[in-house]
Amino acid sequence: MIDSARANWAGNLTYGAAGVLTPRSLDEARELVTGAERVKALGSRHSFNDVADTPGLLLDLSGLDLPVTIDAAAATVTLGGAARYGDVVRQLDEAGFALENLASLPHITVAGSVATGTHGSGERHPGLAAAVSAVELLTADGSLHSFCRGDIDFAGVVVGVGALGVLTRLTLDLVPAFSVRQDVYDALPWPAALAHFDEIQAAGYSVSLFTNWARDVVDQVWLKNRVLRSASGGSLPGAEPPGSLFGAVPADGPRHPAHAAGVAAGNTTEQRGVPGPWYDRLPHFRLGFTPSVGAELQTEYFVPRAHAAAAFEALRGIGDRIAELLLVSEIRTVASDDRWLSPTTAGDRVALHFTWLPRQSEVEALLPLIEARLAPFAPRPHWGKLFHGEALDLAYPRLPAFRTLATRIDPTGKFRNAFLDRHVFAG
Ligand SMILES: Cc1cc2nc3c(=O)[nH]c(=O)nc-3n(C[C@H](O)[C@H](O)[C@H](O)COP(=O)(O)OP(=O)(O)OC[C@H]3O[C@@H](n4cnc5c(N)ncnc54)[C@H](O)[C@@H]3O)c2cc1C
Repeated sequence: MIDSARANWAGNLTYGAAGVLTPRSLDEARELVTGAERVKALGSRHSFNDVADTPGLLLDLSGLDLPVTIDAAAATVTLGGAARYGDVVRQLDEAGFALENLASLPHITVAGSVATGTHGSGERHPGLAAAVSAVELLTADGSLHSFCRGDIDFAGVVVGVGALGVLTRLTLDLVPAFSVRQDVYDALPWPAALAHFDEIQAAGYSVSLFTNWARDVVDQVWLKNRVLRSASGGSLPGAEPPGSLFGAVPADGPRHPAHAAGVAAGNTTEQRGVPGPWYDRLPHFRLGFTPSVGAELQTEYFVPRAHAAAAFEALRGIGDRIAELLLVSEIRTVASDDRWLSPTTAGDRVALHFTWLPRQSEVEALLPLIEARLAPFAPRPHWGKLFHGEALDLAYPRLPAFRTLATRIDPTGKFRNAFLDRHVFAG
């Protein structure tokens, strides 16, 4: 039986930590960090690997009651280290603001998301960490440090993979609130997907392709586009969704990403072109419902966008092997950013995501084959999902700088764990 207090969201990992503690104040959190030999922050537990684990203490910051403060003049919001996107989006919208982008679900904490380089989709939008303009970090000696955009170490601290300390406050950039319509197309022939990939990416503010790699069509294309924020919700000039998309046809009803695997659309955000607020269209899944499928595992690799078509062909070459274990794969584009350990640092990337059946040993046996197929394209892994690691490009240009920073900020390795030792500090 899974000890739910100690398990991650997917239930595939029981944390080996000595305890999960919920400090009631920042001072208490500081005391716990100071007194602990090994410690880490825990977010909403949506990671699929041991990135958040520690042999010491896990700190759940949800008891800290830190306020959400909107600075309308600066167009920023400051929130606490336990805030989930879904906790703040309505308040932002009511104040006339939005976040530029969101991941597929609003259930995840901002701190945990940016720590692992979490992203949404859209060729013009970098990962969620790019919206962070300042953080407050509780470090190993119990002191609080502020890092702001422009500070020398700032770009190293934001996607910290939990290695530097506890993010107690984060400040995010805001944009004016906007509305979005979401249109789903069925059955895009693979030859058209390959030939028109760039045009398809350009057809939406956020674009997702769903496939199992084995069929001769991409099962679905989701286009999310901004619309006028008026009662009519009319399209912005030039942004009318096409009647068909390179052979794909408008879906005749709501779709779950894993529709082809028989999953119904009950937990998805509104589709069929119905306009709605950014926070209720950019994520695929609604807060208040189990996101995605629930009984699942996830993996994701990022390859340079220039290699998108070749990487798709490499995966289609083992499509039958992948499909046996797959609920659905999602293809997204993510713009480049400057965060040192971001999977999309220094160049636009295509994100190749896999939602697996919960058959971990079989999935883990398949991952080396997938990574070998992608190896010519220098794939990087999602820090929060399952990966093998040997054939991956973990040589981020700023990795040496990150290691130096981590050693300076956390000299005794209080925030280190087995995951970081294997993938960030090895070698
Ligand atoms: C159904 C589902 C859908 C998903 N969709 C997407 C998606 O669309 N795009 C995408 O990129 N990813 C996606 N993910 C992955 C998810 O975004 C990441 O796993 C993310 O890290 C989850 O955040 P969390 O709050 O659950 O972090 P946790 O899993 O709790 O922790 C992750 C890491 O963050 C660190 N951390 C957490 N809080 C803090 C803090 N306050 N200070 C310092 N470090 C901290 C932890 O120590 C750990 O190292 C999805 C996951 C699931 C389960």
